[in-house]
Amino acid sequence: MTRVTEHGGGVWSLKVPIPDNPLGHTLVHVLDTGRGPVLVDTGWDDPASWTELSDGLAELGLAPVDVHGVLVTHHHPDHHGLSGRVREASGAWIAMHAADIAVLRRTREARPGAWLDYLAGKLAAVGAPEEHLAPLLAARESGRARTLPGLRAALPDREIAPGELLDLAGRRLRAIWTPGHTPGHVCLHLEEDHPANLPGRGRLFSGDHLLPGISPHIGLYEDPDDSTVTDPLGDYLDSLERVGRLGAAEVLPAHQHPFTDATARVRELLAHHEERLTGLLSLLAAPLTPWRLAERMEWNRPWDEIPYGSRTIAVSEAEAHLRRLVKLGRVEAVPGSDPVAYVAVG
Ligand SMILES: [Zn+2]
Ligand SMILES: [Zn+2]
Repeated sequence: MTRVTEHGGGVWSLKVPIPDNPLGHTLVHVLDTGRGPVLVDTGWDDPASWTELSDGLAELGLAPVDVHGVLVTHHHPDHHGLSGRVREASGAWIAMHAADIAVLRRTREARPGAWLDYLAGKLAAVGAPEEHLAPLLAARESGRARTLPGLRAALPDREIAPGELLDLAGRRLRAIWTPGHTPGHVCLHLEEDHPANLPGRGRLFSGDHLLPGISPHIGLYEDPDDSTVTDPLGDYLDSLERVGRLGAAEVLPAHQHPFTDATARVRELLAHHEERLTGLLSLLAAPLTPWRLAERMEWNRPWDEIPYGSRTIAVSEAEAHLRRLVKLGRVEAVPGSDPVAYVAVG
């Protein structure tokens, strides 16, 4: 595999593998600055991934010890996993949006079992069947909650503020807050001429927000300590419009491959979600629990073949769509229903 790709203008990408994941790898971007290389994301925390990251840097004549800073697009382990190791090796700072730092802090400080309690309670409330709840309850009994991923994730030492021009020597990189996939996801807009003079305004490190061939997972933000009724899908759609307006000449995403015409990709994704919401409205002609709705929604395979963990994620996605439709006044909870059922109105 080609480990390093040169993108010109002091930007490279390294393929860092994600073990046992169909996405294959995270594209870790290296940005040359006047004070040394800065990484955009770091990859999954795994010995083989660390070796790939180090070997990739070596191909650029660099080592982890040289890294000046780490900008993390969002808290997910395929992006933030190795940040702590890079910081240990180099003393680099790690920067992330405050909302995602809060997720990390909460995960680290949570009482063991808190997450499983939350998940089991939530899934029961949205109509998950007994056989889906049983493994969660069993895991809680066995104490497996103590080994959940993310418990050891590094706490960043800097916050990325929305709209901020980052303090990077010799570079013009602006943070664009793009909540939706996570509450603190950021894209990073390199406001410099494109090295191959492609038409448009600079380049966009898009993380998971804007990918060429897949639509990122948008679920609920799943905060056990916060009862605020958030609307992640609404946030995501707003964030899509925000990055569409940047008119970037090229997008450097964290998975798959770089692409041009960000505006067209944004339009495609907006249309995809519009279509999906319309499809859900017709499914909701009769009342359905979020679980029943998820069973009937279109996924990349039939519901019966969706593995256990992915069903939990799918239900969260169904809930995010319901939140959006409720907010738009198109759907309402059926009064007195338990587990809660939703139905289209008007
Ligand atoms: Zn992600
Ligand atoms: Zn990702």
